[in-house]
Amino acid sequence: MVGPIGAQQEAVMLKVRPGEKRTPQALCAELIAPCGMNCGLCMCYLRKKITCGGCRSGDEGKSKSVLACTIRKCEAVRASVSVFCSDCAKLPCPRLKRLDVRYRKKYRMSMLENLRAIREDGIEPFVESERKRWTCPECGGVQCVHTTECIYCGFAWA
Ligand SMILES: [Zn+2]
Repeated sequence: MVGPIGAQQEAVMLKVRPGEKRTPQALCAELIAPCGMNCGLCMCYLRKKITCGGCRSGDEGKSKSVLACTIRKCEAVRASVSVFCSDCAKLPCPRLKRLDVRYRKKYRMSMLENLRAIREDGIEPFVESERKRWTCPECGGVQCVHTTECIYCGFAWA
C-alpha cells in the first residue's frame, strides 16, 4: 500500500482491471510496508497497468502521494531492527494516525492493528493470517482492499 493513495484515485477505485490472477499464497513479508499496509492487497499492485511492486520496491508505478509518503522514507523506520513502525518510540505519529483512520473508515483494515499483530506475533504469522483473511471465498483469488468486490470473479463482500 502502498500505503497511501490519493483522493483522486480513491474515486475510481471500484474499477480495477486486474493483471494475472494472484492468490493469497503469493503474499509475503516483503509486501508488508513499514506502516503495516499489506501492499499485496493494493489496487496498484493488483491492477493490469503500471503496477507497483509495493512500498519496499523501487519508485516504478508509484503515485505522487506514495512517492511523497513520509513513512516510506522515514529515517526511524530505516534505522529500526524490525523495519516496521511497530517499534518506533513515536508510534503512532500523526501521519500514521491519519492513514489508519482513513483505512478503518473507507476500507476494511487498520495499519495500527496490523502493526500490533506484527509486534506481538511476528511478521511470518502475520503474513499467514493475512493469507487466510484476504482469500476470496468464491474463487480463491486475493482480495483487493480498495474494492468492494473480487476483482477476479466479482464476488461482493459485505
Ligand atoms: Zn473471487
